[in-house]
Amino acid sequence: MRLYNTMSRSVEEFSSIKKDSVGMYCCGPTVYNYAHIGNLRTYIFEDILKKTLLLNGYKVKHVMNITDVGHLTGDGDDGEDKMSKSAKAEKKSVYEIAEFYTDAFFKDINRLNISKADIVCKATDHINDMIEVIKNLEEKGHTYLSGGNVYFSIDTIDDYGKLARLNLDELKEGARIEVDSNKKNAKDFVLWFTNSKFKDQAMTWPSPWGVGYPGWHIECTAMSMKYLGAQFDIHCGGIDAIPVHHTNEIAQSEAATGIKPWVKYWCHGEFLINDKGKMSKSSGEFLTLSSIIGKGYDALDYRYLCLSAHYRSQLKFSYEALDSAKSARLSLKEKIKALRKDSIEAKEIKGEKALEYKNAFLDAINNDLHTPQALAVMHSMLKDGDVDNSEKLALISFMDQVFSLSLNAEEKEETVGSAEDLALLDERTNAKKAKDYKRADEIRAILLERGYVIKDTPQGSYLEKKV
Ligand code: AMP
Ligand code: ZN
Repeated sequence: MRLYNTMSRSVEEFSSIKKDSVGMYCCGPTVYNYAHIGNLRTYIFEDILKKTLLLNGYKVKHVMNITDVGHLTGDGDDGEDKMSKSAKAEKKSVYEIAEFYTDAFFKDINRLNISKADIVCKATDHINDMIEVIKNLEEKGHTYLSGGNVYFSIDTIDDYGKLARLNLDELKEGARIEVDSNKKNAKDFVLWFTNSKFKDQAMTWPSPWGVGYPGWHIECTAMSMKYLGAQFDIHCGGIDAIPVHHTNEIAQSEAATGIKPWVKYWCHGEFLINDKGKMSKSSGEFLTLSSIIGKGYDALDYRYLCLSAHYRSQLKFSYEALDSAKSARLSLKEKIKALRKDSIEAKEIKGEKALEYKNAFLDAINNDLHTPQALAVMHSMLKDGDVDNSEKLALISFMDQVFSLSLNAEEKEETVGSAEDLALLDERTNAKKAKDYKRADEIRAILLERGYVIKDTPQGSYLEKKV
């Protein structure tokens, strides 16, 4: 199996530290809002990676964190705590916000057939582990106290920024970010906030440095090492984590243990983009999985769309692309249904031609998770008259262990709203066109009472279940 390692900027032959088992840590969601479909693209890529490792016979210990404290809106320790900001906006407690969006996240990943991590760990449950790492860093002389906060001093290590290949001299000259005057070096980062500018921070804990809360990066160091040891195989995330979050994780982890490299393979997924660039929670159209389901798509149409692009290429989202993914997935399922209709049971993959397809699939997926090529192999195989139908079914099951497109399952239609509800929605659209806003508002109220929220988009209106 070959995998691109961001650290070396090259595709490398994969070999695990311990024979036959892999430790894999994936940075999880910051639970202050719904995940957008860009975030979900990253989790789909990680799921493909995990399932490819499993297919290759590895045992995988998959750990994912839930960030429910400490993630500020700015990457340079500036801005507001995302959780507190959201809690204020929604007039809920931070714990309520965390619980609500954590549940919503797991609902989304379940709909996308993403397998849940073996260990899901919340930052707020691991404050003591973080404090222990900070104490260790302090004992080794890597920290300083300034303005009441504990900082990691990047000048105490000689390879800061190696993952992102940062040119520190250039950065010093052209520092664009608002520099915290407490910092000795603009790239130093907070391990523990005590004297924060956020006086109303809701979540605080006692620590040797005073009551406060952790910086964002320390949670991933503390939790990954707790569950996977001081050195492990794979660390994943989106490419935006490379210059700051993962860079800082490496600095503090290697400084704490003295063991290098902390992580053997760094794997990053490229962005989902829209017309305005990177899809993000703060700008552009914020598309959730529920919103595309509300428009009549299946979550797996989106999964198919993601698989049709390589994870290291940007993927531009459009409804035309999602329509193509939907029809490709449905036509696959039709073909498979037809095979099953002949009451053919899946059997072993033994024939020469069938084995060729199996190997072509493995070559594609083991070549740095080349899902577009692997999908092409599946399409060709289905068309090939030289492959026996029962072997086709067996090959589909084999490949779907990685694709996870539920190819062998019956399709169930997931339309939101009954025929009557949808007729009302149409009536409202017509009422609005006729400028009969009174009737339009009445219909909105009726649908709301029935448990639906109307979503208006340039492509039309649709219903979403009220949550
Ligand atoms: P967050 O919940 O903001 O911490 O982000 C969760 C994951 O989604 C991280 O691994 C990010 O790197 C990733 N991510 C953020 N925006 C995008 C995007 N537009 N496309 C793909 N992945 C993204
Ligand atoms: Zn992380």
